Amino acid sequence: MGGALYERKWAWDSLPREEVNSFSEEYKGFLSEVKTERESVKYILKMAKKEGFENLEDLSKLSPGDRVYMELRGKSIILGIIGKEPRFRVIGSHIDAPRIDLKPLPVYEDSGIAMLKTHYYGGIKKYQWVNIPLAMHGLVVLKSGEKIEVKIGEEDDSPVLLVPDLLPHLAKKQGERKLSDGIKGEELRLIFGNMPYSDSNEKNKKEKDRVKKNVLRILKEEYGIEEEDLISAELEIVPALKARDAGIDKSMVAAYGQDDRVCAFTQLKATLDLNGVFKETIVSCFVDREEIGSDGDTGAKSNFLEYFLEELMDRSAFEEKLNRALINSKAISADVNAAVNPLYKEVHEEQNAAYLGKGVVLTKYTGARGKYLASEAHAEYVGWIRKILDERKIPWQPGLLGKVDEGGGGTIAKYLAKRGMQVIDMGPPVLSMHSPYEITSKADVYSAYLAYKAFFEAENK
Ligand code: MN
Ligand code: MN
Repeated sequence: MGGALYERKWAWDSLPREEVNSFSEEYKGFLSEVKTERESVKYILKMAKKEGFENLEDLSKLSPGDRVYMELRGKSIILGIIGKEPRFRVIGSHIDAPRIDLKPLPVYEDSGIAMLKTHYYGGIKKYQWVNIPLAMHGLVVLKSGEKIEVKIGEEDDSPVLLVPDLLPHLAKKQGERKLSDGIKGEELRLIFGNMPYSDSNEKNKKEKDRVKKNVLRILKEEYGIEEEDLISAELEIVPALKARDAGIDKSMVAAYGQDDRVCAFTQLKATLDLNGVFKETIVSCFVDREEIGSDGDTGAKSNFLEYFLEELMDRSAFEEKLNRALINSKAISADVNAAVNPLYKEVHEEQNAAYLGKGVVLTKYTGARGKYLASEAHAEYVGWIRKILDERKIPWQPGLLGKVDEGGGGTIAKYLAKRGMQVIDMGPPVLSMHSPYEITSKADVYSAYLAYKAFFEAENK
C-alpha cells in the first residue's frame, strides 16, 4: 500500500452554503462602509461595545471572562478576553490598505482645472488608479483644533474624483514607457474642479487661479476648511466602489481593501462570537501601517501591544513577567496570500501556491530571496494548527507567495514573532491583491472565520 497523496479540496464541499452566503452579505456591507483604518477602528469599537467589551483603562480589576478593549489614536485597537492563565492567544490583522493620500498642500490650478497633488501609500500598480471613480475619506484638523470629517464620493449624488489618463490618440510616447512607469507617482493627481470663482466685483474676473479660488470657497463654506488647514489633515483617496458579488455563480466578492480587511472582519466576528471563560487570554489586535512596513506608533512594530498586555496583567491576578507570558503564547498573523491567477500562473510554483475556493491558507513563511525578512512557523506549530483545523473539518490549504526569487512580501508575523510568540500566517487567498477591486472566494472567507474561532477555542478551556 502506498501513502495517501495530498490533494487540495473544494472548501465549498464541506461548508453549509447558506451560512457562507449570509456571512458574505454582512462582509460586503462592512467593505462598502469601511475603507480606512480610522473607519475600521470605529466599526470594530461599535461592534465590540455591543458585545460587552469595556475600555480597559476604565476598569481597576479584571477577572477571567472579562471583555476589554484599548484603542490607540483612532487607528489601532486591541480586544481582549481575560483568561485563567497568563498566556495569550493572539490574532493580529492590519486595517490599513494601499491607497492614495493627499499631500499637505495639495490644491493647485493648471489649464483651467483645479487639481490635487497626492502621494501613494503602499504597493500599488499606479496605472490601475486612473479614470476610475475615487472617493475622499478622512479628517482635517482646523487651527482651532476642531476635527472635521470628510467623505466625498460615496453617495450616489456625491461627486467622485478622478486621475485623468492620457487619451490613446496622443499616448504614443506614454505607450513606450515600462508598465511600472506607465503612470508616474507625480502623475497621480486628481481633478478637483473646473468652475471659476465669481462674485459681483467685475475686476475679480481678471484674477488668476479662479478655479482654485472657487474650490477653496466650497471647502470653506461646506466644511469650514481653509487651505492652510489641509496641512493638518489625513485625506485618503480610495475607490468609490461598493462591494459586489463576482461570477455568475456569485461565488466571489469583489471589493476594495480586502487585503487585509477580510482578515480583520473574520477575526472580529470570531472574537465577538466567543463564549465562556478560557484558560488562555484572548487577544485580538487590529493594527495600522502594515502596508508600508509596520513603522509608526500605530503599527505592529510599536509597543502598543506590550502596553495593552502590561495594563491587562496589572489589573488581573496574574503574577507573571510579561516576557515569560509572551514566550509561552501562540499567535496568528491574519493576512492574505496571493491566489493563483489563471492568466499569470508562471509566477507561482503551482504545487505550493494557494487557490481560490480551496480554503484558508496556512503560509509557513513569507519573505524574499533566501527567506530573508520573514519569520517561519515551526513544524510543531504548523502541526498543531493543522490538527485543530482538521478536527473541526475546516477547509484549509498550504500556500507560499510565488516562486523562489520571483519577488516576495511580508506581514506582521515577524513583529509578533519578535515578542517571542510562536506565529504563523493564516488568511484567505486574494486575486488581484492591492488593486482597487480585489477578489476573494466566499468559501475561503468563511473558512477564515471558522479557523480564527478554532484557534481561539482549541484546547483552551
Ligand atoms: Mn496584508
Ligand atoms: Mn498588502
